[in-house]
Amino acid sequence: MPKEEINNLALRRALFYPAAEIYPDSPSGFWEFADAGEKIRRKIVDLWRKELVEKEGFIEIFGAQVLPEAVFRASGHLESFSDPIVQCKKCNSLHRADSLIAEKTGKVVPESLAATELDKLIKKHSVECPKCKSKDFHETKKFNMMMKVDIGATGNQVSYLRPETCQSIFLDFKRIYRTIANSLPLGIAQAGSSFRNEIAPRNTLLRQREFGQMEIEVFFNPHRISEIENFAEVENFKLNLLLSKEKAVKKISCREAAEKKIVSGKLIAYYLARVQQFYSKLNIPEEKMRFRQLGEDERAFYAAETWDFEVETDLGWVELMACNYRADYDLKGHAKQSKQEMIVTDNNEKVLPHVFELSAGIDRAFYVALDLAFRKEKRGPEERIFLDLPIRIAPYIAGVFPLVKKDGLLEKGLEIFRQLNSYDFDVLFEEKASIGKRYAKIDEIGVPFAITVDYDSLKDNTVTLRERSSMQQKRVKIDSLAEALWHLKTGKKSFEQI
Ligand SMILES: [Zn+2]
Repeated sequence: MPKEEINNLALRRALFYPAAEIYPDSPSGFWEFADAGEKIRRKIVDLWRKELVEKEGFIEIFGAQVLPEAVFRASGHLESFSDPIVQCKKCNSLHRADSLIAEKTGKVVPESLAATELDKLIKKHSVECPKCKSKDFHETKKFNMMMKVDIGATGNQVSYLRPETCQSIFLDFKRIYRTIANSLPLGIAQAGSSFRNEIAPRNTLLRQREFGQMEIEVFFNPHRISEIENFAEVENFKLNLLLSKEKAVKKISCREAAEKKIVSGKLIAYYLARVQQFYSKLNIPEEKMRFRQLGEDERAFYAAETWDFEVETDLGWVELMACNYRADYDLKGHAKQSKQEMIVTDNNEKVLPHVFELSAGIDRAFYVALDLAFRKEKRGPEERIFLDLPIRIAPYIAGVFPLVKKDGLLEKGLEIFRQLNSYDFDVLFEEKASIGKRYAKIDEIGVPFAITVDYDSLKDNTVTLRERSSMQQKRVKIDSLAEALWHLKTGKKSFEQI
């Protein structure tokens, strides 16, 4: 769907909107979410938690957002977490040097390239300023993207807002291993905000300065990378792989990927399968998803293997999760900086665990879910817009609507609303506006069902249950509503079977 329509819908229903928007000079790249938007976003995290954290027996943490400088000295962020910035001499606009070159040449510019090398390429390809077409630039400078925070009254304890959620996981590894896990592989997860001082935030939720991440670090014994419980469950599962030197996606089973060494071991294939299965639950069609294998010049220098999980949208392929085999880079760095031992005993063997990382964006998943769910239907002279969201991430499961406010219908509706609420269903009650307007509202925010209380409800204790996407309706006994919604929510029954 063209992003303009998503953005219009987002503002019209307050799904997401700029932070501090009443102040026009607020910096861009910060967003807020209300009601349905907040709920959809939260439910994506809940789905991740259920499918990729709890089912795998992983441990979730809630870490601090502000961390001391030493952490980022060890992680390498202080030294190398920077974008190459170049300024136009004529109009003073700032640009990312690597993007300008890549746009001109159509080729990926390696992240590791020094500023002086970038300047040479700018000259060689006569790169122009996208704003004023001048070819005269200042020298490229590396700009660190971390946001600095001064702690304490004297401000001399330099800290940073975390640029990624995973550092706390590395810092906490030893304590969690000792107190809770005591064995490998050990998965530790965290969801929350991260902060990057992006030069040019753009595409609303796709490039922000504060953004949601859900990250998992799987710590394992590198000598046992192909010993993973439950591999049998996925061995025939087909991964959509775009290998680094190929043009088309290949469907390759986990077993084949491991046997042919397309991945470093069964453990990697296993988690890639779980990732693909997780995103399928967001209703991403099979043909619109792929793991793109990053070539050597694209990967972070410490990564032995990287697969970017990408989804095709109207904005092109969007990366939703980076799956990085980080080896022992992180634990080694923190062991050296903190002088704390990170070696553990696994199967009577002393090892420094290796890490396979599943690093996902929350807001990107949210945006892509909206993009893929957006529907516009012509109905006679009118147009209907609805979000065909999967039930598990829908903001509410149903709206409860008394047809009119009088003759006891309001009270009956409230009774149903309270009953469903007590069963822990997310339901919405609305008595204002015409029934058509109320349907239109919940259609637009992706609520899958509407429950309408009318005069017959008072006589025979039934209500109308309406399905959003098909607009089919049926009468359901009030007493069996909760059970019906539970069947629909868990997928045990379809709407036709109710
Ligand atoms: Zn310019």
